[in-house]
Amino acid sequence: MRFDISFLFLGLVLFFSCESVPEKTKPLNLIVIFADDLGYGDLSSFGHPTIQTPNLDQMAAEGQKWTNFYAGASVCTPSRAALLTGRLPIRSGMSSDKHRVLFPDSHNGLPSKEITIAEQLKKVNYITACIGKWHLGHKEEYLPLQHGFDYYFGIPYSNDMDIPESLLQEKGGYWEVVTDPKNNLIENFQVPLIQNNTEIERPANQNNITKRYADQTVEFIKTNKDKPFFIYLAHNLPHIPLFASKEALGKSSRGLYGDVIQEIDQGIGEIIQALKDEGLDQNTLVVFTSDNGPWTAFNEQGGSAGLLKGGKGTTWEGGMREPTVFWAPGKITPGIVDQIGSTMDLFHTFTKMAGVPLPEDRIFDSFDLSPLLFEGKKAERNHLFYYRENELYALRMGDFKAHFITKGEYGLYGGKEIHNPPLLYNLNHDPAEQYNVANQFPDVLTAMEKLITGHQEKMRVGEDQLKSRGSD
Ligand code: MG
Repeated sequence: MRFDISFLFLGLVLFFSCESVPEKTKPLNLIVIFADDLGYGDLSSFGHPTIQTPNLDQMAAEGQKWTNFYAGASVCTPSRAALLTGRLPIRSGMSSDKHRVLFPDSHNGLPSKEITIAEQLKKVNYITACIGKWHLGHKEEYLPLQHGFDYYFGIPYSNDMDIPESLLQEKGGYWEVVTDPKNNLIENFQVPLIQNNTEIERPANQNNITKRYADQTVEFIKTNKDKPFFIYLAHNLPHIPLFASKEALGKSSRGLYGDVIQEIDQGIGEIIQALKDEGLDQNTLVVFTSDNGPWTAFNEQGGSAGLLKGGKGTTWEGGMREPTVFWAPGKITPGIVDQIGSTMDLFHTFTKMAGVPLPEDRIFDSFDLSPLLFEGKKAERNHLFYYRENELYALRMGDFKAHFITKGEYGLYGGKEIHNPPLLYNLNHDPAEQYNVANQFPDVLTAMEKLITGHQEKMRVGEDQLKSRGSD
């Protein structure tokens, strides 16, 4: 038989081009979508009967739905610092016994010596964007571009701030303005919209802010489709005052709050579609969660923690446990995960995924979730410290949670109660924290005391960045 050399050559070309020369694996793109004051029970996939979130529900079905995932704190500023640095905010000085969050007259912000997820990812050439609410210092030296982000577009603090003095006088104060939905007018909240380091609009048009944040995210994906990217999309809503675009208004039978959540969900659908259109859906991890629980002081204008107790500002489960979804088709092991996770874990997880060393000069409160996300293994995290301001209020260890101190919700401020002996709940049996079982499990409390002693021995409290305001 005659040997056909051209056939052999073609075969070799095909063999080397298709089989034995693997394409260099592209790092996964990373998107974190962070809602503001969203309750554990506010998505249809987490049980809400009249809010429809089909895009998030689809992502939960295709990816992992986490039922025991926590924010790093129960209010905005410390929670955001915790997510971006992988550290309890008490360590970075981003929690305080004097003020719970930063205000438009605050002097400080996230210290430059803190390392953010964006800075970690920049080390391996990710392009990074922060779109939305920052709330880690609005002065230029503290804005996202000075913390590892290549692009910023957003309102730098909460959307209920910068109320004109004349309106406060006329209505009788902050609460009188914000509790009446009739005051939800753009001009009543003179918050700035910032692009990179420049103010481009004031007051920010909040009617379409949710839509604009989604559009900006889509545009960033399309512009940077050839590079690995990290997008931190932090919506200003559903924090009060509630705003939705004309297209979204009246769509939900839950009312305005439902319209807001459904508009956020619709934007997420557009972001997922953009990933599909650009062929990036098989190479992107999207995480959805929230900064703290629902602001129950606002009744119907606030959300619902579902079966959990309490809301924003408290260390009850409703204040810090968040409806959370991880989505990365073809990469993530789909399922419902009831192991413990925290927004602080994203720092270690992303760092590990990107192959960047974890800095060794500081203490982290961050665990690598990647074995659980991608290999179906058990979580490393088995405990969680719940701080309110700079005081340790509660500890979760495995199934159990002890409360040493409790206090009411943000804006309601029920009396501070010290519990000695602590209240103890089995959160897997009793997620609503109804039945104190301290008497039955003295050994659990002893083991918790030991864990706390070790934790507190190593604690170095960061210099308070929140205390200084106005003429202070
Ligand atoms: Mg919040």
